[in-house]
Amino acid sequence: ATPRSQAILGQPNQLFVLFFTEMWERFSYYGMRGLLVLFLVTEAAKGGWGWTRAEATSLYGWYTGLAYLLPILGGYIADRYLGTRRSVLIGGFVIAAGHISMFLNTVPSFYAGLGLVVLGTGLFKPNVSAIVGQLYGPKEDNARDGGYTLFYMGVNAGAFFGILLCGYIGEKVSWHLGFGLAGLFMILGALQFWFSQGIFGDIGNPPTAADRAKASASAADEAPAHVVADRLKAIFVFSFFTIFFWFAFEQAGGSMTIFAADYTDRALVGTSGFVFKVVNSLMTVLPAIILTWLLWKLNRSTGSRYLLANAMLALAFAVIWGLVLWMLGREFALEQSEVPASWFGVLNSFFLVILAPMFSKMWEKHWNPAGPVKFGVGLVLLGLGFAALSYGSSGIPQGAKTAQVSMVFLCLAYLLHTMGELCLSPVGLSYISKLAPTRLLGLMFGVWFLNTAIANKLAGFTGSYIDDISNHYSMSVFFLIFTAIPIGAGVVLMLLTPWMKKKMHGVH
Ligand code: GLN
Repeated sequence: ATPRSQAILGQPNQLFVLFFTEMWERFSYYGMRGLLVLFLVTEAAKGGWGWTRAEATSLYGWYTGLAYLLPILGGYIADRYLGTRRSVLIGGFVIAAGHISMFLNTVPSFYAGLGLVVLGTGLFKPNVSAIVGQLYGPKEDNARDGGYTLFYMGVNAGAFFGILLCGYIGEKVSWHLGFGLAGLFMILGALQFWFSQGIFGDIGNPPTAADRAKASASAADEAPAHVVADRLKAIFVFSFFTIFFWFAFEQAGGSMTIFAADYTDRALVGTSGFVFKVVNSLMTVLPAIILTWLLWKLNRSTGSRYLLANAMLALAFAVIWGLVLWMLGREFALEQSEVPASWFGVLNSFFLVILAPMFSKMWEKHWNPAGPVKFGVGLVLLGLGFAALSYGSSGIPQGAKTAQVSMVFLCLAYLLHTMGELCLSPVGLSYISKLAPTRLLGLMFGVWFLNTAIANKLAGFTGSYIDDISNHYSMSVFFLIFTAIPIGAGVVLMLLTPWMKKKMHGVH
């Protein structure tokens, strides 16, 4: 049902509308999330709330946990009542209202804002992921895998810019302006989605009365009941193994930032000013060129209002991003002797944006193994990332408070983690969309995101033991634990491949 004549990169045009919609949502999500704990623990004199670290991380845990738990509800609502498209629209505006509420700078509006963002995300996140799958027919598996990988690139383009931009504005200018910025771009992002509705046709419309009747008649769908049941089992197995991934990944996020700050040699010598200018320019120019090209192509099928919304977005973004880079450049020129520890955190989304097109090509043209194999490889790569850290930190004496490990190991770890993520996370989305029956599509995406909620909770729990562990064992042993867990899980899942293939009944 999708016109492919104007396809970009062999993908349906609608994919790129969803790319931008998700990009701005993730921009706001990660941008605000990155500020949250910092804001809460900052003393009142500097505009924060002066909370303890424990209090702040607890609220953060609740917030992210709920944001990944509520997709179950949001997915269900879309399946039963709203349809995926309307859910995304409403969710987007609710999220924006949340950020604006946090911008207002009062205690009640701050909490109300967090609540709204959580509710909106529950409605938005599973369903935007579901619509992507609705663009492809049952015979387009390779294009679908590639499409989800590109979509995931949008996720991380948003994360990358959100963390840097909201982070910088929030920390250096005003916390509430940082929150407001997240809201501004979410509004514009939701508007551009709204103005593009025409090109979606019937895709993602609310279920009809007939669809609903079918839904209540239990197993009636396009496949026989036992096949549907088997495929749902496969979804649960994929989701289960993903818990190991996000658990180690989240745990990594925390410990790797500390590692970067305390144990990594971040000194730059001589040419750093020049290198920074080059990186600076590339980071501005490259995404601008790619995004402008995509929008130019899209314009033909989406109409002028869509283009206007995007032009507004691009302009606002370019002005603020330019300003931030300029300020960063000045700061860097003054103290260019060291890379800030927090910068390593964005390496994940940076590598992802760079690598996603290559992985997308690889799945489509060269190598597209069975799902459990890809998942297994993803888990093993994550483990290898920790192995690099373990090796790098093997020279640190136990109990040392500082050390001088080369930042190469940290960069290598982020690179391996990102490659692992590309084998598992977008691939997982694609599998949900292939395995779930239409009437349960949103709900199954909710199940998929539930694994993140569980993994986060687990990581929070083990995180409280980290100090204990690191007092008794060396840094290197600590990272070795996170080498073993994902690799073990990955090998088990690969061994399950024949069983999984049976359960998937021909879905590749
Ligand atoms: N980076 C991904 C996103 O925000 C992670 C999603 C997940 O399942 N944990 O979309």
